[in-house]
Amino acid sequence: MTRILWVLSALLLLAGCAGPGGNRSDYVVVIDAGHGGHDSGAYCGGKKEKDLVLQITKKVYKEFKSEGYKVYLTRGSDTFLKLGQRTRMADHKDAKVFISIHANAIGDKSRFDQVEGVETYFLQKTRDERSQRIAARENASVLQGTDKLSQDVIIDAVLNGPKIIQSHKLAIDVQQNMMKNLNGEYKAVKDGGVRPGPFYILVGASRPSILVEVGYLTNTKERQRLFTSDYQDEIAEGIVSGVNRYLDNRKKEIGF
Ligand SMILES: [Zn+2]
Repeated sequence: MTRILWVLSALLLLAGCAGPGGNRSDYVVVIDAGHGGHDSGAYCGGKKEKDLVLQITKKVYKEFKSEGYKVYLTRGSDTFLKLGQRTRMADHKDAKVFISIHANAIGDKSRFDQVEGVETYFLQKTRDERSQRIAARENASVLQGTDKLSQDVIIDAVLNGPKIIQSHKLAIDVQQNMMKNLNGEYKAVKDGGVRPGPFYILVGASRPSILVEVGYLTNTKERQRLFTSDYQDEIAEGIVSGVNRYLDNRKKEIGF
C-alpha cells in the first residue's frame, strides 16, 4: 500500500500537480488588519475592533504560510496607516488578492443582540442602505482629510474595472468557506452573505480585493466567540480555503 502511495505521489509530481494544500509559492497574498493606532474601529463591551482584527490577521498569515503562499501584512502591530498605504503594498508586492479584515457594529442599542453574522464585501456602489451605512463607518477614518470631490474621483476611477467581477467571485468563495467552517463547529452562525459596498480601502488595489466583516462586536454572543482562539481559527482557515478555491478556479479559467 505504501508503495502504491509512493508511486502515486511520484506521478503527481511528474504531472506538475501540487495537489490540495500543495506548494503555492507562486502566489502572493496581502492581508490588511483594519484600523490601528488612534483609530480603534468599532468598540463595544470593552473590546476594540483594531485588536480583534489584528489577532485574526495573524492567524490568517500563519495559515497562508503553512500552505506555501508568500504573504504580507499591511500592519503587524497597533499602528495607523493612511488610505493608500494599505493597498499600495498589494500593488508593490504584485499580490494575487488583497483581503481587508474588519469587525462590524450597529448604532441602535435596542437591536444589539438581534443583529449578527459574517459578511464579505466587494467594491461596488450600491443603493442598499445597510451596506452604505457599514461602508460609511469603515470609511470614516481612512477618508479623513479627503474632500468629497476627490472621494468621487477615486471611487469612479475603478468601479467599472474588470477586477470587480473577480473580486465578486473571490468574495463568494471566501464567504462560503468561512460559513462552512464556522457552522461545522458552532451553532447557528448567521450567514450575512456577499454584498457590494463603497469601501474606500478596496479602491486603491488594482487586483481582486475584498473586505471581510467577521462578526458584530455589538452582539454579546458573537463578541464573546470572536475573541476565542478556536473561533478565530475557523475564520482564518475558512478565508484561506476560500482563496485556495478562488485561485484554483481562476487557474482553470485562464491558466495563470
Ligand atoms: Zn473596520
